[in-house]
Amino acid sequence: MNRRFFIRKSVLGGASLLAVSGINSSYVFAKSKDSLKLPAILGGPKSYTGLWPDWPRWKSPNYDESILNILRSGVWSRSKVTSEFEDQWANMIGTKRCLSVVNGTNALITSLAQWNIGPGDEVIVTPYTFVATVQAILLNGALPVFADIDADTFQIDPTNIEKKITEKTKAILLVHILGIPADMERIMRIARKHNLIVIEDACQAHLAEVGGKKVGSIGHAGCFSFQTSKNMPIGEGGAIVSNDDEFMDRCYSYHNLGFPYGTQVGNISGGAVMVGTKIRFTEYQAAIGLNQMKTLRAETDKRWDNGMYLAKKIDAIPGISSVKLYMETTKAVFHLFPMIYDKQKFKGMPRSLFLKALQAEGVPCSAGYTPLHTQSFIKNAFESRLYQKLYSKSEIDYNDFLENNQCPVNDKICDEKSIWLTQNMLLGDKSSLDSIANAIEKISMNAEKIIKREGM
Ligand SMILES: *Cc1c(COP(=O)(O)O)cnc(C)c1O
Repeated sequence: MNRRFFIRKSVLGGASLLAVSGINSSYVFAKSKDSLKLPAILGGPKSYTGLWPDWPRWKSPNYDESILNILRSGVWSRSKVTSEFEDQWANMIGTKRCLSVVNGTNALITSLAQWNIGPGDEVIVTPYTFVATVQAILLNGALPVFADIDADTFQIDPTNIEKKITEKTKAILLVHILGIPADMERIMRIARKHNLIVIEDACQAHLAEVGGKKVGSIGHAGCFSFQTSKNMPIGEGGAIVSNDDEFMDRCYSYHNLGFPYGTQVGNISGGAVMVGTKIRFTEYQAAIGLNQMKTLRAETDKRWDNGMYLAKKIDAIPGISSVKLYMETTKAVFHLFPMIYDKQKFKGMPRSLFLKALQAEGVPCSAGYTPLHTQSFIKNAFESRLYQKLYSKSEIDYNDFLENNQCPVNDKICDEKSIWLTQNMLLGDKSSLDSIANAIEKISMNAEKIIKREGM
């Protein structure tokens, strides 16, 4: 049977999901009072006048003491608290090991390097991601190969992955973008068949699940970010998780100047055994992280629940829809909540004007990523002395690269269709989510007037 059949019709298509969201299904388009009012962009009342939940948040003054204790102790570089954080994070994700590092970018760089991915290797990656994903490939001297996304899920399309595999393909750097799991089961099957390393970029996907397993624990390694905007914020910070002891020992060594695994910070006479950098966590980062971890599960469940609720609401409005989830998804964590915009159903209103109208209603929103595979940092890498030495002219011919890496689905999503809400907006109450749907409905009802007034 056609695989497409198995993709959920919408995030609400599955009975199990309905049970999770427990939604009032009696919502009917264009029946809310708000939709009869004038849109805020035309001088009407805002749909939402409250505050959206703050981010990041420091949840309790009870946590202050754990940070102050570290400051007073003088033990600031990695030590016991960092080890405790790593044990707990491994436990939370369901892997044998975890190593903390300075940020998600370096978690990716380290993971690629320690799976021995470098010069001459091709790494398949989505064009729909944060730039750090691709920088990590280039910083290891490898070649990014872009496989276009699925327009319904915004995730890398496994069919396109298979088309891009050559004898040089070494790895898939698999991103669960927006906190929504990629088609993990099918991608792991492809990887096994072609003997590829799978590194999961779970920097937006803390506690997202496929078949009950946390993302990051399914491939050869998983990478997380604890940067301020992320679902588990520390300010800066990152982690690598894996069940492979040898790989994790190498990562440890690499993150600590090449000293053998287990060498304590401060011991500088043991002799370095490999090339390494220095990207260690600090004790106060670990302490902040241990506190953030206490509430992560509850917050994640709230985002999932509210995300489902909002999806149901917006799916009832013509021209706006939620993304689909792959069948095996048991939890999406919506670091960003994506909506798919169809301007035809809004009388041809350009997305930029729709965003302006929605923002005027008191609903912060953005267009999301711009296409990544055509940005000039890739050309810059190819022109660098390193790449000029590592590769033949034809291997890094930039025009060939552009030709071979076209991603028309991604271009269309980026340029016309995607709309993002941020994760903190899903931590409010249901009435705040209702006002998002009401705002969109109001814009829809008045599309013609808005377009005319803006002269578009
Ligand atoms: C944030 C992010 C990273 C990088 O993490 P930092 O901690 O900011 O270095 C990598 N990949 C994705 C998909 C991200 O969202």
